Amino acid sequence: MSTNSVDIAIIGGGLVGMPLALALDQAGWQVALLEQSVAVSPPADSLDQRCTALSAGTQQLLHSWSLWSAVAADSSAINRVHISQRGYFGATRLCAAEAGVGALGHVVENRRFLADLHPLMQDSGMDCLSSADVSHVSADSQSSTVYYRTPAGDASLQARLVIAVDGVASRIRESAGIGVRQVDYQQAAVLGMLEVDRPHDQVAYERFTEGGPLALLPRSTHQAAFVYCIEPDAQSTMEQLSDSAFLQHLQSQFGYRLGRFRRLGPRTVVPLVRIEAQRQIGSRLVLLGNAARLLHPVAGQGYNLAMRDAAALLRFLSGEHNFHNELLVPAQSQRVADPGDGTLLQAFAASRIADQQRVVRLTDTLARGFRGRAAAPSHLRALGLMGLDTVAPLRQQFAQHSMGLTG
Ligand SMILES: Cc1cc2nc3c(=O)[nH]c(=O)nc-3n(C[C@H](O)[C@H](O)[C@H](O)COP(=O)(O)OP(=O)(O)OC[C@H]3O[C@@H](n4cnc5c(N)ncnc54)[C@H](O)[C@@H]3O)c2cc1C
Repeated sequence: MSTNSVDIAIIGGGLVGMPLALALDQAGWQVALLEQSVAVSPPADSLDQRCTALSAGTQQLLHSWSLWSAVAADSSAINRVHISQRGYFGATRLCAAEAGVGALGHVVENRRFLADLHPLMQDSGMDCLSSADVSHVSADSQSSTVYYRTPAGDASLQARLVIAVDGVASRIRESAGIGVRQVDYQQAAVLGMLEVDRPHDQVAYERFTEGGPLALLPRSTHQAAFVYCIEPDAQSTMEQLSDSAFLQHLQSQFGYRLGRFRRLGPRTVVPLVRIEAQRQIGSRLVLLGNAARLLHPVAGQGYNLAMRDAAALLRFLSGEHNFHNELLVPAQSQRVADPGDGTLLQAFAASRIADQQRVVRLTDTLARGFRGRAAAPSHLRALGLMGLDTVAPLRQQFAQHSMGLTG
């Protein structure tokens, strides 16, 4: 059993853990990242993609952490959003230029995103432990001990703060005795990639159909990621349809704006649930990402919210907030002495509640709004589906457009 000591141990090298580890390392913290799997490889087939829509805020955050340039090449900008309803004339169009932003958002492929960040991890000074399966964590007043297993045997690590970003089934959350609240929306979403005849010109589409809302997010010129919300009674039918029959069904819902739908990648059906940790912090412990909160996936909000949480934690650790002052008056930036200090963690968690509650309310509105086969367009729903609600000028602009469309 080997024992090392670091400032901060991050458990989970996923979409939140890896960029956060890099940002903390850059900020001068001694970081160890423990990930149970080996390094991810990007998908071999371009239609085998699992995509995430990043808001403009998340893109700016990655840029400020000097990480955007590593992932930008594979990202696809959303320059316009087109919202329509099947069977109704007219559409709402939103444009990045009109909203005064470079892009309304960007779509990335999850495994490619991690693979693109991997070389930065290797070049950094941090301890990157792959195939390190963490079993549990214990804390005392001075530090935490992280117990993990590698192919070489059992090991442990001392850290002053543990950040658990080990996903929705977080073992660390469980070992800390933090329970979860769960809401089952009794709905499902079909997700996948398709190839289309006409170039999408970086337009994201949101179409309200009798089958349910369907979003198409731009990837390479002729490829788009789709999210299709369905009612539970349609789930087994959608799962049993052959690829060509499913493609035909999607085409009938979407129409021919992008020409013929040509090819379909693997599709996944996910239940629509919300799972939230009862507390975000424990003794020398912070839960982030899906370990803290899994949101209705069609809302496209989970990652963007998790990254705002991560950015706030980084600011607290950097001493950019005077956490002893309830008003959070910016203090002179000086890294805190103890990253696991209980008062600091409480101030961090308290500072995030308003944003988290706002997103959960939005998600619930979306979930209710998506119900039924004749869901009418609303600015909340469409922006939520794209994960773009954080673009304030766009929200305003869309609210106006939406009123024009529905009024
Ligand atoms: C279908 C779907 C679509 C989505 N689309 C969007 C979107 O468009 N926009 C958006 O903002 N959000 C979206 N989200 C949410 C987004 O995917 C999540 O917010 C994000 O994946 C959370 O990342 P994470 O790092 O917390 O967890 P994960 O990505 O699940 O990473 C957890 C990591 O921890 C590792 N791990 C687990 N247990 C251990 C252990 N015991 N020891 C060591 N390592 C461990 C795992 O191997 C994994 O690498 C979507 C979610 C889903 C399910």
